[in-house]
Amino acid sequence: MSKILIIGAGGVSRVAVKKCAMNSKVFSEIILASRTKSKCDLIASEIKDELHVEIKTAQVDANNVPELVTLIKEVKPDLVMNIALPYQDLTIMDACIQTGVDYLDTANYEHPDTAKFEYKEQWAKNEEFKKAGIMALLGSGFDPGVTNVFCAYADQYLFDEINYIDILDCNAGDHGYAFATNFNPEINLREVSSNGRYWQEGMWYETQPMEYMMKWDYPEIGVKDSYLLYHEEMESLVKNIKGLKRIRFFMTFGQSYLTHMKCLENVGMLRIDEVEVNGVKVVPLELLAKLLPDPASLGPRTVGQTNIGCVIEGTKDGQRKKVYIYNTCDHQTCYKETGAQAVSYTTGVPAMIGAKMLLESKWKGKGVFNMENFDAKPFMDELSVQGLPWKVIQMDADETYEVK
Ligand code: NDP
Repeated sequence: MSKILIIGAGGVSRVAVKKCAMNSKVFSEIILASRTKSKCDLIASEIKDELHVEIKTAQVDANNVPELVTLIKEVKPDLVMNIALPYQDLTIMDACIQTGVDYLDTANYEHPDTAKFEYKEQWAKNEEFKKAGIMALLGSGFDPGVTNVFCAYADQYLFDEINYIDILDCNAGDHGYAFATNFNPEINLREVSSNGRYWQEGMWYETQPMEYMMKWDYPEIGVKDSYLLYHEEMESLVKNIKGLKRIRFFMTFGQSYLTHMKCLENVGMLRIDEVEVNGVKVVPLELLAKLLPDPASLGPRTVGQTNIGCVIEGTKDGQRKKVYIYNTCDHQTCYKETGAQAVSYTTGVPAMIGAKMLLESKWKGKGVFNMENFDAKPFMDELSVQGLPWKVIQMDADETYEVK
């Protein structure tokens, strides 16, 4: 029996709130707050109609710590789930420290003026969280999130030592638009237009955006061009998986997406600095985000599947070993269950499971934690029953694949 405060009412939140409502034995009281209260009310009324669960709603500007503190003191939740944007991570963490309430999010902090994707500022709050006697669980989405848990599961249960990890993220969904992003457009485009980076033998190596590509045969989907990107879970996995020699992250993109993105970049529409237009200051990427389809609206029209997983290589009992742990998710199945497409679904479900781990004290501690810091088994068990079943395939340890 716990009370949670969820902040943010976009595509991912819709799924997380619904999944919490479906697990009402654990999440007995849910309060949903966001910048635009009407979006919270819409989600709440859908859930009332479908599941007969009452959700209270509130308005909050999560950039404003005193406002957050007032709301948290009023609600008195056991946990705050931050499903707004990465820009709000630090303010919500500060409000949790001031009020002594546990914290969870799905993406690492980003400053609006620099697309950096690093945990530094959130990890720096470890002592304050410890002192307040509370815990923060960072990155409880799919990637980061489930991918960290897949690696932790392999480390704890399948290998003696892990040496190589490739995280492989494929969205083979088709929404029928010429160009749209499947989660918040601003955050998505900042991520994929940045330089790539991978880690090998203690060093980070930077690449041009989309410089390296490989063809990967995704189970249940087929062969897709997969590009090397930087992704935030690598930063914590490098610290936490002992024996690691290399970690990379690949994501699939179709030619049309890449051509649109290059064109938008070439004309300056991905810029995150202000430009003046007729005396009005505009950030081009923010304007573009307003023009693109709202990812939360893609649910009814997206067909196809996602497949996200980790290829992990290392040793067990003195033998080389390689496994592929992955989940496949169908956009329309997700839509029928939650009204959202699979990218929101694969993020919102693990957000709920992470919260469940905390509230049931299966994962507990004082300080700031990443997903791989805990026993992976209870989380993996929940994935199987909450809509994200996974598979482990044994691979030939001698098989190599080419990245060009
Ligand atoms: P959306 O843009 O659909 O939703 C964001 C929500 O946050 C909106 O309701 C928005 O309000 C609200 N919000 C923004 N700023 C504030 C503020 N200052 N105060 C209060 N509320 C605010 O995003 P998504 O649902 O697509 O993504 C949510 C989060 O999930 C993001 O952090 C994203 O990076 C993360 N994510 C993580 C993934 C993973 O696998 N780990 C994958 C995909 C997403 P308003 O309606 O007023 O704009």
